[in-house]
Amino acid sequence: MERIGFYPGSFDPVTFGHLDIIRRSEKLFDKLIVGVGIHHGKTPFLQFDVRIDLLRGQIKALKLASDSIDIRTFDGLTVDAADSFGAQFIVRGLRDSTDFDYEVQMAGTNSQMIGSIDTVFIPASTGLRHIAAKFVRQIAQLDGDITAFVPAEVVSEIKRSLNAHQ
Ligand code: ADP
Repeated sequence: MERIGFYPGSFDPVTFGHLDIIRRSEKLFDKLIVGVGIHHGKTPFLQFDVRIDLLRGQIKALKLASDSIDIRTFDGLTVDAADSFGAQFIVRGLRDSTDFDYEVQMAGTNSQMIGSIDTVFIPASTGLRHIAAKFVRQIAQLDGDITAFVPAEVVSEIKRSLNAHQ
C-alpha cells in the first residue's frame, strides 16, 4: 500500500520552517500531500491563490522527486481531509513545548475520530525553530526585514500585496 502523508497548514506565508518540514518528511512517504487550509470568515494575510502559488514555486525549488508531492486545498477538519486524500499519516512540525502540548492533544483527538490515521511529528531544525508565520506577518506589516524567515520570492510577493492594499 502506498504510504501517504498529509502536511496541513495555513502557509500564510510559507516560511523556511515549513519548507524544511516538507523536505524532511517527503523522504518518509511514497507521497506527501501539502494541504492549504481555507478558514471561512477569517481574513488571510495573503490571498489563497497567492499562498498556493508561492508554495508551489518554493516546493519546486527544493528539487525533490517531481511526483512525490501534491498541493491540495481543504476546509473542515484536518483529519477528514487527510482521510479523503487517502493519507494514513498527518505530519506536524514541533518547535517548542507549546507546539508539543497542543499537537499531542490534537493527535490523540484525531486518532480517536479516525483510528486509521496517525500523526508523525518532525522536530524543528536547529536555526529554524523560532520561525513562525504569525511573526513574519507582524514584522512585514511593520515594514521590518523578513529575509531571514522566508524565501526572496515570498518577500517580494508580500511587499507587492501590502502595497496593493495601502
Ligand atoms: P505557523 O504555525 O508558523 O503559523 P502553520 O499554522 O501554517 O504556520 O503551521 C503548519 C505546521 O508547520 C505546524 O505543524 C507547525 O508546527 C509547523 N511549523 C511552522 N513553522 C515551523 C518551523 N519553523 N519549524 C518546524 N515546524 C514548523
